[in-house]
Amino acid sequence: MQALPAYIHHHETGELARRIEAARAILRDCTLCPRHCHVNRLEGEKGVCRVGRFPMVSSFGPHFGEERPLVGRRGSGTIFLTCCNLRCVFCQNYDISHQG
Ligand code: SF4
Repeated sequence: MQALPAYIHHHETGELARRIEAARAILRDCTLCPRHCHVNRLEGEKGVCRVGRFPMVSSFGPHFGEERPLVGRRGSGTIFLTCCNLRCVFCQNYDISHQG
């Protein structure tokens, strides 16, 4: 028998809703990462990462660019989000991480 994914269990028990509300509370005075911008992302204010209330997805799909144990035969599921709080000068994904 296949194990139930944790997110289904969390949804059924209400844990997912509790975590969503906890995340929203953080976004009101954002300290989600060590930058501690203290902006209200729920009102559209933006800090170093330049992400407001909603993150933006650049692309998604099966990913085959990692070692075989990680991607298997059908690829790993990958979601690339735009903007990043690290701002590394050598970033290989500069167009999505820096330019959004
Ligand atoms: S960089 Fe973004 S996630 Fe990090 S504290 Fe600032 S607004 Fe929040």
